[in-house]
Amino acid sequence: MSLWVDKYRPKSLDELHYHNELSDRLKSLAASGDFPHMLFYGPSGAGKKTRIACTLRQLFGPGVEKLKIDQRIFFSPSKRKLEINIVQSNFHIEITPSEAGIYDRVVIQELLKEIAQTQQVDLNARHRFKVVIINEADTLSRDAQAALRRTMEKYMSNMRIILCANSTSRLIAPIKSRCLLIRVAAPSTEEIHKVLEYVAKRVGVDLPPEAADTIAEDSCGNLRKALLVFEALKMQSPDLSGPLTIAKPDWETYCHKVADLIVSEQTPARVLEVRSKLYELLSHCIPPTVIIKTIAERVVERVDDSLRADIMHWAAVYEVRMRIGSKKIFHLEAWVVKVMSLYKQFFYQMDLSEFD
Ligand code: ADP
Repeated sequence: MSLWVDKYRPKSLDELHYHNELSDRLKSLAASGDFPHMLFYGPSGAGKKTRIACTLRQLFGPGVEKLKIDQRIFFSPSKRKLEINIVQSNFHIEITPSEAGIYDRVVIQELLKEIAQTQQVDLNARHRFKVVIINEADTLSRDAQAALRRTMEKYMSNMRIILCANSTSRLIAPIKSRCLLIRVAAPSTEEIHKVLEYVAKRVGVDLPPEAADTIAEDSCGNLRKALLVFEALKMQSPDLSGPLTIAKPDWETYCHKVADLIVSEQTPARVLEVRSKLYELLSHCIPPTVIIKTIAERVVERVDDSLRADIMHWAAVYEVRMRIGSKKIFHLEAWVVKVMSLYKQFFYQMDLSEFD
């Protein structure tokens, strides 16, 4: 039994519920013989992958839905074995090079070269090129991006690349300039409301408008979250009546607890306590950038107005350092200590001003 997010995922561009002008543009691009490399970007749950899948279907027909999953093995320059999952059909191939960590360049280089040098064998295929979808393109290392750029220049004739990313800021300019940029904005509350109503109708359940509003507002533009919450709530109370309480995910509650610890005491002992909690979050695979963002948002809610800008500024600084460096915990902890020192200084200055 599949989840509603998968079961009721639109399959063609005509079935997409929102951003209709974008769907029309993609349709005409697919119809024109000249299909470019593309970069789809937007927040998580905005519908990027769904839109890419629909575009592929428009390009090649229902054959793209016949998927097979393979595991490929690559070797790093130091002969380390890298196992990468690849989803493919006769017309496209989907990879997430970030699975290979710092060796993503090897995956990009070898795989793309191999695809680019093989001709489309299906004589009935509507297009001569194969599409390569690269997920999480914004987490690609500089080396991998440079390799990608060279491949894009060299093998345009029998390969098109579709990149999927949350933001374009971490992609190098030459890649951006070789792609058609497609921004998939988060759906509005009304649009999410409409999708929820549609799914409720397909499932055959009654969704009161107030419940749909609560779910849509809570999801903050993340349609996947809205549909998952809808399904979870439906399991808990089948009639969805009365005020709904949407439980926060455990990691979010845990991050809020860490923020409260930071605000309530600023001592070396507390830093140690926070460190163990940060390790706990990291070991449960919560991305460090999400940890710092969630804790920072909670901390600024609880401190004086004058401190907010500084706390966010330092969160941004340490986030950048975290991306550049390899030991995430160092930067997370450095930010925690910075916030504690800012907070202490603030109280110290308040005390001094009382003496004046
Ligand atoms: P992203 O790739 O941006 O994180 P997805 O494409 O995975 O988002 O979309 C998340 C879920 O939202 C999908 O599983 C699908 O059920 C739903 N969805 C996405 N786009 C649409 C749409 N245009 N109309 C209806 N449902 C959609």
